[in-house]
Amino acid sequence: MHSSTRFRGSVEYYNGDEIVFCKCGEPCDIVTLWTELNPSRRFHGCHRYGKRGACDFFMWYDPPMCKRTNNIMAKLLRNLKDVEAENKLLSKAKAKRRVLWFVLGLWLL
Ligand SMILES: [Zn+2]
Repeated sequence: MHSSTRFRGSVEYYNGDEIVFCKCGEPCDIVTLWTELNPSRRFHGCHRYGKRGACDFFMWYDPPMCKRTNNIMAKLLRNLKDVEAENKLLSKAKAKRRVLWFVLGLWLL
């Protein structure tokens, strides 16, 4: 049986496992943030997190990382975004090249 605080968010234990409930009274999902401020930090969020009808329940799952790790993770995230942007540009250039070769091939026929 769940406690009366369950609907405001609560933590309960079943066979040694911690289960966190959001304000909806449902077991929370563990969500990973990928922001520069909190890269790879996890939190307990509503099972509908990011969807319509989600409650605003929030509870950190991980302790905060040390400043050095946080800086390294933020830099890695920025590098990843740069690589993804460059990859997107290369894909567009590759597609344009394919069209150019196709047109050139038609012209030569
Ligand atoms: Zn909820």
